[in-house]
Amino acid sequence: MNTTHPRARALTALTSVALAAGVLLAPAAGAAPEEDLPRVTVVATGGTIAGKAQGRDTFTSYRAGTYPMADMVAQLEPEIGAFADVDVVQFGNSGSGGYTIEQYRELTATVEEALEESDAVVVTTGTDTMEEFAYWLDLTVQNRKPVILTGAMRPWAAGETAGEAGVIGADGPANLLQAVRLGASQKTFCFGTVLMLNDEIHAARDVTKGNTTRNDTFVTRQLGALGWIDGASVHVQRAPARVLDCVDEDWFTPFDLDELGSAALPRTEVFYNYQQAGGEAITAFTEAGVTGIVTAGTGAGGISSAPGQARRAAIAEGVWFVSTSRTGSGTVDGGGEGIIAGGDLLPQKARLLLLLSRAFTEDIEQAREWFATLGTPSFDQSALAGTVSPTPGGEPGEEPTTEPTTAPTTPPATPGTGEEPAGEEPAGEVPAGEEPAGEVPAGEQPAGEEPDGSEDGTDTAAGVGGGGSGGGGLPALGAPVQAALTAAALAVLAGGTLYALHRRRTWAVAGE
Ligand code: ASP
Repeated sequence: MNTTHPRARALTALTSVALAAGVLLAPAAGAAPEEDLPRVTVVATGGTIAGKAQGRDTFTSYRAGTYPMADMVAQLEPEIGAFADVDVVQFGNSGSGGYTIEQYRELTATVEEALEESDAVVVTTGTDTMEEFAYWLDLTVQNRKPVILTGAMRPWAAGETAGEAGVIGADGPANLLQAVRLGASQKTFCFGTVLMLNDEIHAARDVTKGNTTRNDTFVTRQLGALGWIDGASVHVQRAPARVLDCVDEDWFTPFDLDELGSAALPRTEVFYNYQQAGGEAITAFTEAGVTGIVTAGTGAGGISSAPGQARRAAIAEGVWFVSTSRTGSGTVDGGGEGIIAGGDLLPQKARLLLLLSRAFTEDIEQAREWFATLGTPSFDQSALAGTVSPTPGGEPGEEPTTEPTTAPTTPPATPGTGEEPAGEEPAGEVPAGEEPAGEVPAGEQPAGEEPDGSEDGTDTAAGVGGGGSGGGGLPALGAPVQAALTAAALAVLAGGTLYALHRRRTWAVAGE
């Protein structure tokens, strides 16, 4: 990743030194080269990748989740064994849509357990909800080692076993091979969970399934892929913002499921808005005991009048809302009483973060902060502009005149562009004739659309929006800046050493 972050640069330098030390230490450990192969555990849940087709030329008619993963991995030998020591956990074998949130919880535990011994975990799932599996693991796995999701768009074979009658042009074998290669490379250490399909690497938070059938179905709109794999070459060109926190405890999310014990997870749902949508779904969700609802609004998050009224009633009952967009990309800012801005999280991702937020706090302001920071990690180098010399060998500059902060920044209210105008009803509804959430040109009648939840034209004190840093973004420097930099340097030194010890096992990876 190309970054000017000083901690990243220091880490690179220290890591180089420590890695060199690691190489020198390797013979002392007495391990034979084969034993130095990275260990990668494949946790299999089923999906098309394990699908049995009706014929070798049948791509769309098959039974998902049929072949055992151990048999599929065996088909990749001896090639896969040249760069990884692979073992398999058969977690389940069914389509992705059949899994429950309780099973997601067990999956997190399974992945964490595997990572105790393995250098990386590859989770195979169906592609339909793979992005949700991936984001769930990204939010909950308490381990910096690589976690990689993969699957396939075409079934594996048409025979009785995975080794018979391979489907012509099946993408599963290559996806599995390359996902294990990515794990073995350790190149996404501290990235959290990533998704690898069709030779492309995507961040779990941002990726989505963009096509029903194509092999290149996974896309990261606006931001693009993190990298790609060409044959044996793993190219990683970008990183999720949280990678900057690799060497300190801020890297970990607050969602350590062990802390919940056996407490049941709360229900959260998604409401999809459209022209003159009714409010009954929101009312029914509320009556069913749902504790949080994500609205997939039009444009920048607007919802129709009837669901707007239902939302106000639900908020009065204690339901939390997250405002997102059905457009598939772009940011929803604002928020208000009972309403959190979803930033650029897709509705199905926001629903998972809302679920975890409800499970881990009673305080909606805390949840707001999670959405604005770890939910919406972003880069903000402005605090370093006054402290780091912009030119080679220059003296450090003045301390910044304003205190740097990792707190989320509050986007300015934008009257006339979708925020609720001052003096209107405070719960966020725009009466007929007012401009809705930024999608009706000035002067047009918006026909009763509900905006994204901002109150009376101003933003909340808590401030939500996509402009914040922290979480995965810029580290807090605090005042005095010199003391903070010293502490950061010590943290980097310790982290770099740990990182190097971890990396030491990966030097035997072919092509690395
Ligand atoms: N229906 C399948 C699933 O999600 C689709 C796939 O695996 O691609 O399990």
